[in-house]
Amino acid sequence: MTMNSQGRSTTPDEAIPMSEIQTVSGSRGLQQREDLIFETGSTGKTGVDLPNPKGTKSRLGSVTRKRPTDLPGLSEPETMRHYVRLSQKNYAIDLGLFPLGSCTMKHNPRLNEKVARMPGFADIHPLQPQATVQGALELIDQLATWLKTLTGMPAVAMSPKAGAHGEFCGMMAIRRALIARGEIETRTRVLVPASAHGTNPATAVQCGFKVDEIKADERGRVNMEDFKAKLEDSSDIAGIMLTNPNTCGLFETDIMEIADLIHEAGGYFYCDGANFNAIMGRVRPGDLGIDAMHINLHKTFSTPHGGGGPGAGPTVLSDALADYAPVPFVVKDEDIYSLVEETEGEGEEAFGRLCAFHGQMGMFTRALAYMLSHGADGLKQAAEDAVLNANYVQARLKSTMTAAFDGYCMHEALFSDAFTAEGIDTLDISKALIDEGYHPMTMYFPLVVHGAMLIEPTETESKAELDRFCDALGAIAERAKAGDESLKGAPYLAPMRRLDETQAARKPVLRWTPPEPDRMAAE
Ligand SMILES: *Cc1c(COP(=O)(O)O)cnc(C)c1O
Repeated sequence: MTMNSQGRSTTPDEAIPMSEIQTVSGSRGLQQREDLIFETGSTGKTGVDLPNPKGTKSRLGSVTRKRPTDLPGLSEPETMRHYVRLSQKNYAIDLGLFPLGSCTMKHNPRLNEKVARMPGFADIHPLQPQATVQGALELIDQLATWLKTLTGMPAVAMSPKAGAHGEFCGMMAIRRALIARGEIETRTRVLVPASAHGTNPATAVQCGFKVDEIKADERGRVNMEDFKAKLEDSSDIAGIMLTNPNTCGLFETDIMEIADLIHEAGGYFYCDGANFNAIMGRVRPGDLGIDAMHINLHKTFSTPHGGGGPGAGPTVLSDALADYAPVPFVVKDEDIYSLVEETEGEGEEAFGRLCAFHGQMGMFTRALAYMLSHGADGLKQAAEDAVLNANYVQARLKSTMTAAFDGYCMHEALFSDAFTAEGIDTLDISKALIDEGYHPMTMYFPLVVHGAMLIEPTETESKAELDRFCDALGAIAERAKAGDESLKGAPYLAPMRRLDETQAARKPVLRWTPPEPDRMAAE
């Protein structure tokens, strides 16, 4: 225990476990308890004082509301406090390391935000005459050039608004190509490795294909025997959807052979490029024989995501698919930029339109700001540091925890639950991390590893922060190994303890209803 100069303790009293301290208010430390806005607000209260309008007759007629809406009213300070308190209950990348594997929760540089808020980018409207938004169209074109250069691909569709949307775009382009070949009726099978991100099989089905799962081998990569067996009768093969680096955090070492074989079979190669952060500047997907790949700007190019903002999933396309890219797309003619909006003329081969406009302008602006501020060498170093950081985490923890596969990893470190004592699960370890101040890692994914714990630190964490995280997780892992039953109760310090996550996902309660007596009083 540390003492101040008056001899009073400055650290918590070790004799009293923090989890046992109860408060009258339900608040903890300086974290205020917060009720729902419907519970704190009342219909009679408002934050503004407006005069009643005089002499205006309602023009709503029969659609006039018969009962008040019962929206809760709050004063301005009450409103401020409600939302600031809620925001303090949220974990965010600006608060600490966010180890969610497959999500690339890296720092979002503030420079990106500054640029995205410049009036020339932020205050324009997609329906404005194109002559008045030449700068914005030039930005989209420049970003497209960077993406094509980084991936070594000839074309890119900019409008997809998320990774999964980019997959949809790529698979629709493949569909369109099969229609052009007159083979859409026969080529209906898409191969998807067992370690695929869940969005891959979902996309294939959404685009009308059948999914055929390829087994993983003992190295966590595509099982080439199984893959070749699936190609024996290849007349119905539409293509393969492969993630690289895959969701085990590993580079698919046979990727070039996979590309050759799928092309020989008459299929296309879709690569899920959401994990591009691990290889940008080092490997060009175009050199690997890929036909279509989405890039998550909100992961690799640091635009806020995960409740913090919309995504953007531009999809690069090979020569075989380039003509089928969706409208609208930007073209340049003698220094004048314009959008091709119609599926005729220049857009004749397009598979159609994915969304109302050209894509996610704010994300484009942030991503280009990130690229220009890093430069080609900086992007390459970001990828190298992401891989270095993940390997540091793996190296520090593998003597306590069980690494899922031998050897170095790429941008994320994957552990199985083999090291835990009987009765202690991955879930218990994740919950205990909350008490240590960390958002849990991705758990029980990928499915090919038992009790998987997938940790992606990203390049933006310092060694000191990685050490702090590894100290915390390592200590929890030791307790899990020793069979410490107290882990089953974690988290002890969070405002809420163990919630029923299955019920919350399957039967979410999205509507507040007043308790009975109140309802009767109100009526
Ligand atoms: C994040 C991710 C996706 C999905 O991206 P969204 O933007 O969430 O739709 C797809 N595949 C992989 C491998 C991912 O990591």
